[in-house]
Amino acid sequence: MGVKPDGGRVVLPSRGSGAGWEALFLFPMASGLKPRYRSHYSFFMFFQSLLPRPEIGANSFLFDFDGTRVVIDSGMHPKYTGSEALPLHEPLGFDALDGIILTHAHLDHLGSLPLLQRRHPRTPVFLSEGTAHLADIMLHNSVNVMTSQSEELGLTGYPLFTHDEVNEATRQWSLRGLRKGFEIGDRGVRATFFDAGHVLGAVGVQFDTPMGTVLHSGDVNFEEQSIATAADFPRTGVDTLVLEATRGDAPRDPEYTRQREALRLAAVIRETLRRGGSVLIPVFALGKSQEMLILLHQLVKAGEIPSAPVFLGGLSTKVSATYDELTHRSRRLHQGFSLLRELPDLQFSARPRRGKSRSAMQYHPGAIYALSSGMMSENTVSNEFAFHFLANPANSLCFVGYADPDSPAGRIKNTPQGYPVRLNENREPVLLNCPVETFDFSGHSDREGLRSYARDLKPRRIILVHGDPPALQWFQRTLSEDMPECEVTIAMPDTPIPLF
Ligand SMILES: [Zn+2]
Ligand SMILES: [Zn+2]
Repeated sequence: MGVKPDGGRVVLPSRGSGAGWEALFLFPMASGLKPRYRSHYSFFMFFQSLLPRPEIGANSFLFDFDGTRVVIDSGMHPKYTGSEALPLHEPLGFDALDGIILTHAHLDHLGSLPLLQRRHPRTPVFLSEGTAHLADIMLHNSVNVMTSQSEELGLTGYPLFTHDEVNEATRQWSLRGLRKGFEIGDRGVRATFFDAGHVLGAVGVQFDTPMGTVLHSGDVNFEEQSIATAADFPRTGVDTLVLEATRGDAPRDPEYTRQREALRLAAVIRETLRRGGSVLIPVFALGKSQEMLILLHQLVKAGEIPSAPVFLGGLSTKVSATYDELTHRSRRLHQGFSLLRELPDLQFSARPRRGKSRSAMQYHPGAIYALSSGMMSENTVSNEFAFHFLANPANSLCFVGYADPDSPAGRIKNTPQGYPVRLNENREPVLLNCPVETFDFSGHSDREGLRSYARDLKPRRIILVHGDPPALQWFQRTLSEDMPECEVTIAMPDTPIPLF
């Protein structure tokens, strides 16, 4: 156990009394000393979720290894704005971290990084080459989105950071390769990146410390996708596993194969194009867009779908260019394949600036639209586009990944065909006339995949993160039954958890 014997007493930060928080966080600020000099807690190693709520959102986690303090990820919640969307970074103080690690460039892990770096300007940020390229693109895009939000929604304090600040922040970024350990601080803590198979650049992180070994999974996929190879994680020697739980709330169809899913998608596309409609696939700009482009290319080559124009959003295009640039330098399938050059029917929609030319996205029959952030959030180009698209029964809407139930995407999923659905608070509902299909091309392992990895690894402790409450609870119950000797804990806000 990672508790410190203190003259016969066991000192554990406790929730509720506030004593733990004060002791762990406020004391170093008040004294002006970095935590490593606090002899009182010098043997204490703990994990602390910095999320304001137990859910998938503004991911950020503190690892304190006997005073060597490392924060993994610094996300922003896509559904909220202002401080509600941010991790709880205030208790960390200022200039008091030995390292920041970024697992990958999705905004729920990255979106508030410049704000964390503003508080810890001298702290190195360790990340993979792919993540560095992508994070730069995503953060600058984020500044543009926040600037529009400040104009359109009148949000005060927006943008939360500027382009200059992003440029300044990147000076502290330090690239690290896969499976090459590096020191953090000067007290014997080593970190090693392992390919997480999730999106380009995504890693899990192993910490080797004098008291034990921790593996933080990050977002992970143990199965091959169309571009991403399966995760390449350590199989032994881990004492504590910090595990993502995204897909814990539902089992996958036991008959599932990616191949079968691809053929099902092909059938919908074929039929839609045959009747003169178009297909809309809402995708995240990073990861899902590129996976879908390769998949569409493969389906055309195999004769499963006819060649059709594919429209791609502006951010997806920039991210795809990075996939192409790093095609020989990243662990991936189809090395050397260029998404933007070798897909002849690819067309790029010039993404209109918000509030400037809202109708710029043109509808063409017989096309495939892979639009980023489409219907995931309101006030986006593809939300606007979807408004007209959904009313046309010749079209098809194909979901290929996770959709928050409270988002427009989630509302569409829960609306029967022929019924009205509200895409945007400020507009009338639209009739959902086009068929809606759902496919599973998730970038995350399904719950049985994570379960069997954990069982094989046999850690003594598992800490569950990155899931909605039912997902976290399924993992806690199931893994506790699978491994009675293993302590399985759900990471809760404000509650430090001993690491060993
Ligand atoms: Zn992710
Ligand atoms: Zn995530």
